[in-house]
Amino acid sequence: MNHLVHRNSWNSNSPYLNPFMNHTSYIEISKSSYKKNIQFIRSEVGPGPTISAVVKGNAYGHGIENIVQIAEAANIRHFSTFSSDEALRVYQSSKKNSEVMIMGMLANEDLEEIIKKGIGFFVFEFDRLNAATEVARKIGVKAKIHIEVETGFHRTGFEWEEREKLELFLKNNLEFLDLKGLCTHYAGAESISNYVRVMDQIKRYHQFKDWFVEKQIKFEKYHTACSAATLNYPETIMDLVRIGIASYGFWPTQETYMSKFKQLPENNKNPLKRLISWKSSIMSTKKVKMGDFIGYGSSYMAPRNMTIALVPIGYSHGYSRMLSNLGKVLIGGQLVSVVGTVTMNSIAVDITDLKGIGKGDEVVLIGKQKKGEVTVASFGESTQQVNYELLTRLPQDIPRKIIA
Ligand SMILES: *Cc1c(COP(=O)(O)O)cnc(C)c1O
Repeated sequence: MNHLVHRNSWNSNSPYLNPFMNHTSYIEISKSSYKKNIQFIRSEVGPGPTISAVVKGNAYGHGIENIVQIAEAANIRHFSTFSSDEALRVYQSSKKNSEVMIMGMLANEDLEEIIKKGIGFFVFEFDRLNAATEVARKIGVKAKIHIEVETGFHRTGFEWEEREKLELFLKNNLEFLDLKGLCTHYAGAESISNYVRVMDQIKRYHQFKDWFVEKQIKFEKYHTACSAATLNYPETIMDLVRIGIASYGFWPTQETYMSKFKQLPENNKNPLKRLISWKSSIMSTKKVKMGDFIGYGSSYMAPRNMTIALVPIGYSHGYSRMLSNLGKVLIGGQLVSVVGTVTMNSIAVDITDLKGIGKGDEVVLIGKQKKGEVTVASFGESTQQVNYELLTRLPQDIPRKIIA
């Protein structure tokens, strides 16, 4: 089956999507895998904490609108984004009135729209705090803020020395501010090499928390944990966990998986399931004689008489140029190799040993086909890209489709 068959069943919320035209590749997102991942995370955190689905970076490449839809079907009612534009996409696609929280970029000029819509956001400096309070006063709607404190990540967060000024400001402006959260972010909970630094951060966070409690400033939710912290440092699980990569079926690092492995039940050693498959189809085939160079330059000379298939995806579609002469794809259930350089829009693969393969046949770039599988991780290792980076580099204009 090739992608021609699917073309009228895309999620048509991408502005790039032309339902009357074939695309060179498409991405499938598995709803049932997502649900299993959330079930696993739920079993890790227990019934109490809110699970916030982190959907920054176009939901780690999966498409914000797709993930909001399947996450809400899995009973998720809280989403975290990096920026205000992403937050609006969540807000617009939510059918369950889910909460939205911005963890990073939010221009002061956009505060009014964000506050009006009831979208929450991190506040890590007085400039944003002042601006948000002003807007809230002007429009008569409380700003939902999450105070981020500096515990050792050294990117954003109020300093310990600023606590008294902060306390005073919050106390004086409680009629304009809804204190939704007190939060921080860990600098590398996915690796034991950062153990001391993370433990230090946990300690500092509690100093902040205790200090505010003592000053009778209460926050609705205390939250610090990302996927790796949730899995490796259970003490970081508080009222809410911010889960990104694990919800998409990836361990933050191999190390996170290894350190968890023994605790996993015998019948479920692989609880995280990938959601994503990336597929294309053969554009054309060609016979090449022994000694001919394939593609640009001379990086690949045919060592025998060969048949190659052209696949219409290249580095402009997120298929890294570093996969030249290295990448593997699945055709007819068999792994075959990329030969020659990855160009902007296409790759050539060696199908000499395959029988009965031709134009229009399915090509799997990531995912399963019959008994074969290409994982994002295997992909990542051969180009030194981690899961996060590879996923988020998949362009927004590749059509994405939810499957069961
Ligand atoms: C990205 C991010 C997360 C989620 O991280 P994962 O490792 O993908 O779970 C949580 N909190 C903050 C502040 C983030 O930026």
